[in-house]
Parts: sequence; C-alpha cells; structure tokens
Amino acid sequence: MQRLIAGNWKMNKEMRQCKEYAESFNAYFKETMVEVLVCPPLPFVYYLARHLHPLVKLGAQDVAAFEPGPYTGEISATMARSVGCLYSIVGHSERRKYFGEDDKLINIKARLARQHAITPIICVGETSAQRKAGKAKAIVKKQVLSCTNKLAAPSFVIAYEPLWAIGTGKNAAPEQAEDMHAFIRQLLTKKYKGKGKDVRIIYGGSVTPENCVPLIRQKNVNGFLVGGVSLDAKRFCEIIAKCGM
Ligand code: PEP
Repeated sequence: MQRLIAGNWKMNKEMRQCKEYAESFNAYFKETMVEVLVCPPLPFVYYLARHLHPLVKLGAQDVAAFEPGPYTGEISATMARSVGCLYSIVGHSERRKYFGEDDKLINIKARLARQHAITPIICVGETSAQRKAGKAKAIVKKQVLSCTNKLAAPSFVIAYEPLWAIGTGKNAAPEQAEDMHAFIRQLLTKKYKGKGKDVRIIYGGSVTPENCVPLIRQKNVNGFLVGGVSLDAKRFCEIIAKCGM
C-alpha cells in the first residue's frame, strides 16, 4: 500500500511565509514513491495548489458539518474540494479539545467530506491519563468505530495520534505505535472484512527526520501526520525522503 506523508500546518504562517515555503519545499523535494500531502490553512490552498511541486496534494484541516448555507465562518467540503483539497483532516485532537467536537460530529464531517470526493483523515488517540489507566485501546476502539459509521473502506484514512505525543517532543515508541495500529487494523478487518486491510493507518505525534525510520518500518504504520516539523520545508522533505526508501 502506498504510504501517505501528510503535513498539518495548523493555524500557522502568513501569505509571505507560504510563498517562501513553496520555494523552499520545491528546492528540497525529490520525487518519491510515497503520497505527499500538505494541509495548510484554507486561505493558502489555492496558491499552494499552483506553486508546490505537482506531485504534492493539498488537504484541508477540517470541513463543516453542513452543506453550504447560513453558517458564518464555516468552510464546506464542497468549497474545500473546489480549491483543490483532495483530503481533509477531521477530528484532530485540537478540534476535540478547543471546539468540543465529538465522535458523532466527526463522523458527520467525514461522511460529508466523502460525499464531496474528499478523503477524510480521521484522527483518534488516547490521553496520557487514559493510557496510564489501561484504557487506551477501549478509547481508540470507540473512536474508530463511531467515526467510521456508514463509511465504506478503504475510502478514509485513520490517523492514530496519542495526545501525549502531539507537540510534546515525545513520540510513541515504534512498538507502542505498532501495537495500536495492529489493533486498529484488527477492528477494521472485523468491520470491513478484506477491505479493512486496504485502509491506511498513519501515525502522528512528534514525528521528526530523526525518529521516523523505525516508526515507518512497523508493519501497520502506513505513513505519518506531521505537525510541527511540517512547517519547516527542509525537515519535512527529509521525512518524505526517508519514508520513500
Ligand atoms: C498533529 O498535530 O497532528 C501532530 C502530529 O503534531 P506534532 O507533529 O507537532 O506532534
């Protein structure tokens, strides 16, 4: 299965920095076997779709839970698709934490994205307290099954992002990531039979060029969702290059 290396800029950069990024990215990027995705803030998608290397795909960081209409401040899946987004992250832990998003809402967003030809990247993951209490798998199971309700496989991606690893500099150990990815694979195979094997399960949480190789070598780690490091074109390209080997 083709690996997916996705960058999540979160709410960072301005237009000038976005232009510099495109120049720098194109200088460092080498053609690769992996699928490369950049999810910038929506105002930059139109520009990046025209200026980043043509092998790079663009994605949104979220989509609205509604079709177009009177929802001030929201961006619909149709709009994201019309400016070139082929993917959208949904249910990122920051959306869950700061905007109160729950599995039911995330599932609505994922289904709307799918209906408009956007592949949802559904984020799941446990907190440190939940892991310490031995509840990590129960939490992730509930998130995976609820968020994929009425979605067909393999038309979505699961991003396993343990909250204790996001933006902390403390990535999951390769065996820890593989243990959870294999568990998610089992859930998907049970739910979707043979098609569950084709769903990409990517890991997110403090991925760097220094720690990505042992992680990507795990059997069920099919790529990465990279936050902080994806803001630096050179370092993001290093991850892409190492995962393409
Ligand atoms: C993320 O926010 O999806 C993420 C994985 O962030 P970081 O790589 O900075 O931990």
